[in-house]
Amino acid sequence: MKTTVVGSYPKPKWLKYVPEKDKLEAIKDAVRAVVKDQEVAGVEILSDGEVWRDEMTSYFANRIDGFVIYGEVRVWGNTYYPKPAIVDELRYRKPILLQEFEFLKKVTDRKVKVPITGAYTLVEWSFNEYYNSKEEAVYALAEILNEEVKRLVKAGADFIQIDEPAINSKDLEVVENAIEITLKGIKVYTALHICYNDYRKLFPEVMDLKVNQLDLEFANRKFEDLEILKEYSFDKDLGFGCIDVHSKRVESVEEIFKAIEKALEVVDSRKLYVDPDCGLKLLPRNIAFRKLKNMCEAVKIITFINEA
Ligand SMILES: [Zn+2]
Repeated sequence: MKTTVVGSYPKPKWLKYVPEKDKLEAIKDAVRAVVKDQEVAGVEILSDGEVWRDEMTSYFANRIDGFVIYGEVRVWGNTYYPKPAIVDELRYRKPILLQEFEFLKKVTDRKVKVPITGAYTLVEWSFNEYYNSKEEAVYALAEILNEEVKRLVKAGADFIQIDEPAINSKDLEVVENAIEITLKGIKVYTALHICYNDYRKLFPEVMDLKVNQLDLEFANRKFEDLEILKEYSFDKDLGFGCIDVHSKRVESVEEIFKAIEKALEVVDSRKLYVDPDCGLKLLPRNIAFRKLKNMCEAVKIITFINEA
């Protein structure tokens, strides 16, 4: 089994105080810090913590022609986010994630993954004022992501993760087509990350999606959803979210160990990728680090026992 992360990691606090003229250098230093945290914690497949990205929708919308961002929209309570709107034909402008990926490869020798917000979620979380239907917008965007994934793979990326938190059982066919368009003509290991969703409604159809791995969140619901996977003889690689990213309580090594044992009843250890439920960005950095460290420690012990 392997250890990995979903994507985001708490940004170093000083980053927000850096003046604009020094921002690029500071972001690179922040990536180095975030990568070092993951390496010290023992994570095998790293990300750059999505340090470059301000937000998972607008970051993409800002870099694709056809989008504008009107301003902050209230999503819940006092949380606002810059909601993009599609106002023209979507077109590929320039590389979106290539710079991030190339820099990450320079600062670590470990294997890395590239998380990409999926076309379906990007459209669901934007206004569509141009295309006649949601499907049309999703497929146009998937073509653009395909162009980007091609560049990433050409630059050496070998693990692409598509994030589709907005996935909905009513639109599974649209998501399926979008994933096929996003990955067409590309040979690369792929995962689909889905979180805070009703898995009961997505199974078993979600297992037909053409990705190698489903990365799901289990800690948040006390691992009950493993039962669904058992019912449907889960046969893909499993990204096993076993760290609650909404809680500051640091899970003990023993607790994570027991959770992994449960996951091993569902999939073979060779098909298991142990990670947190979702991105860690909302946690204090020291807590995110300690959670990852305990997760990796638990994997080390269970691997040792299994091999003995
Ligand atoms: Zn997530």
